[in-house]
Amino acid sequence: QVFGYRDFTQQAKWDAAFMAIPDAKLAGEHLKILTAEPHWASSPEDYKTALYVADKFKAAGLETSIVPYKVLLNKPVSILIEAFDADGKKLMSGPTPEHVDPAKYGGDPGQNDPRILTAFNGFSPSGDVTAQVVYANYGTLADFKKLASLGISVKDKIVLVRYGENFRGVKVYIAQQYGAKGVLIYSDPADDGYFRGDPYPKGPYRPASAVQRGSVQFLPIYPGDPETPGIASTPDLPDSQRIKNPVDLSTIPANPLSYKDAKPILKALDGPDVPDGWQGALPFTYHLGGTGKVTVHMHLQQDYARRTIWNVIGKIEGTDPAERNDWVVAGNHRDAWVYGAVDPNSGTAAMLETVHGIGDLLKQGWRPRRTILFASWDAEEEGLIGSTEWVEQHAAELNHAVAYFNTDVSVSGPNFSAAAVPSLKQFIREITSEVPSPKGGTVYDQWKKHEEGNTETANHRDKSSKEKEDDAPIDNLGSGSDYTPFIQHLGVPSTDIGSEGRYGVYHSTFDDYNWFIKFADPTFVYEQEMARIFGLEVLHMADADVLPYDYQTYGKEILSYIEAAQRHAAKDNLKLDFTATLTAAQRFAAAAAAVHTDQANPPADAAALNRTLRSAEEAFLNPEGLPHRPWYKHLIYAPGEYTGYEAVVIPGVNEAIEANDATRAQSQLAALTEALNHAADKLDSAAK
Ligand code: GLU
Ligand code: ZN
Ligand code: ZN
Repeated sequence: QVFGYRDFTQQAKWDAAFMAIPDAKLAGEHLKILTAEPHWASSPEDYKTALYVADKFKAAGLETSIVPYKVLLNKPVSILIEAFDADGKKLMSGPTPEHVDPAKYGGDPGQNDPRILTAFNGFSPSGDVTAQVVYANYGTLADFKKLASLGISVKDKIVLVRYGENFRGVKVYIAQQYGAKGVLIYSDPADDGYFRGDPYPKGPYRPASAVQRGSVQFLPIYPGDPETPGIASTPDLPDSQRIKNPVDLSTIPANPLSYKDAKPILKALDGPDVPDGWQGALPFTYHLGGTGKVTVHMHLQQDYARRTIWNVIGKIEGTDPAERNDWVVAGNHRDAWVYGAVDPNSGTAAMLETVHGIGDLLKQGWRPRRTILFASWDAEEEGLIGSTEWVEQHAAELNHAVAYFNTDVSVSGPNFSAAAVPSLKQFIREITSEVPSPKGGTVYDQWKKHEEGNTETANHRDKSSKEKEDDAPIDNLGSGSDYTPFIQHLGVPSTDIGSEGRYGVYHSTFDDYNWFIKFADPTFVYEQEMARIFGLEVLHMADADVLPYDYQTYGKEILSYIEAAQRHAAKDNLKLDFTATLTAAQRFAAAAAAVHTDQANPPADAAALNRTLRSAEEAFLNPEGLPHRPWYKHLIYAPGEYTGYEAVVIPGVNEAIEANDATRAQSQLAALTEALNHAADKLDSAAK
């Protein structure tokens, strides 16, 4: 056990007192209130949810503020997608409004609420384009390369791609690089529809008309307000400090579609049959198109404006003068594309019960050693905007924050899952061993038992690679939620947790309260579980005498990344010298083993040791950032330039190898070597 308390008995008492408070029924009430109206970022309904969260924070005794930013957001004014065959006959005209049968739903589905924005992509430009259509499968780099190898050009075409595999903004990024004129992104029933199970309202999967909205910002370039990379969009920030042509935005229009609307287009496409693995679950043979048989007209009118968004921040001041400024931050976003029952308000409901529990401890006289901040982020959906702006504003304080704990798609079913920086993987396993599972035993037991990754969900951690290890698997942090600015811009050790299930209504109108109580968590016991886990993360990190970072695991993982990169380079005949990097990684691993002994036998005053432990993570930052994307400074983890959600490890090195660029790879190896030596120096200086 890395874990560091001098008085385990006292801490166990606080843990137990906390665990008794998070209440399933109250979590259900929060969820019902938060999801009563559509509340996309910057809307009046979004502001109402901010007030609700602020009230609960205040009631628990947190020093609470609503923090506004003024950020660029688009709102669809009119969206028209129509398709014609070679004779000019109309094949479809959409987008069709989302619809399920109210009789089968068992009431009013809320699908006719005029405040529901027509399905659109955040940060698509306006545009009026007409072109032939090419089908490009998931729109991965490999898919576009495959099309090119088959002699099919997407230049000046509209590309039809399906959701899945990578982040949607990456699909558009690649399509733009290949010269496409526009992109349509649809949900194939193979991925989250009837091919998986019964569609809503009978089952949890995506019905024919349901659309996955979502941002097409080029997230791997930088997240946050497109006009202010690296600085905060405070309401008073002068226009002169906002940039003109953000490079993280697409120049070609994109829009999402339901399979109901995509079907007539796909069906009419001719040309070659699709390659292996490209056929979806619609009942006809898919063709690649590009022959001129089908023409699509996309006319998108977007209202771009600088709009006000609101984070809610609640603070509990720490008591230890030496460590109170080393913050523990825990957050979840609050804005939703529509009702957002799972995404994100299952997380907000859980967080409010965490805060309820912590508030009760405060009443019992407990005070944290380190300052705790709870955050309810806004405008995550458009591009992690609320969290990124706040992180950019507080960079100086966050340089020594000890942890950021995230939850987003918090409860969509019964299976615990987590992603974390390696130094906190064991920490999550320890905490989940303290929390009872509604399935019996502890969350950790159930998690380990379930093990096999949940490939059925189409959410943030979709398709990311699980660590191959005997223990309960924990993903690497890629992107797609609010931990990104913390870990990848500033090096704050982070985790992301959730409880997953069969979730087919992601980013549609039907991710609503009714869906949630039918298919995710009818009695809110998983909400309670998540509130407890989230709370224990905060409590343990805020009160630990010795910070529970496990650098031994970090060291092992980094070594394995370097060895894998070396094999990849050899396979591609790239002549690279890995010697210095491997030596530095071994040095780091040895320093981690030595410091582990200190963590187990800490000095009476551990403040200096803690500071040093924390500084090792900071050493992984390169002030210059990654090639082509300087906002991303972490040398061990980044969202892949061509994946978005999924992490690329030692990204500078691996992406250079992937691009067959030996010069860049060697200089990235040098940067990594320097960082590892720097981190090893830090740990060495702590070890006695
Ligand atoms: N959670 C959002 C999504 O996956 C994040 C969007 C973004 O980071 O741009 O769509
Ligand atoms: Zn979310
Ligand atoms: Zn989302």
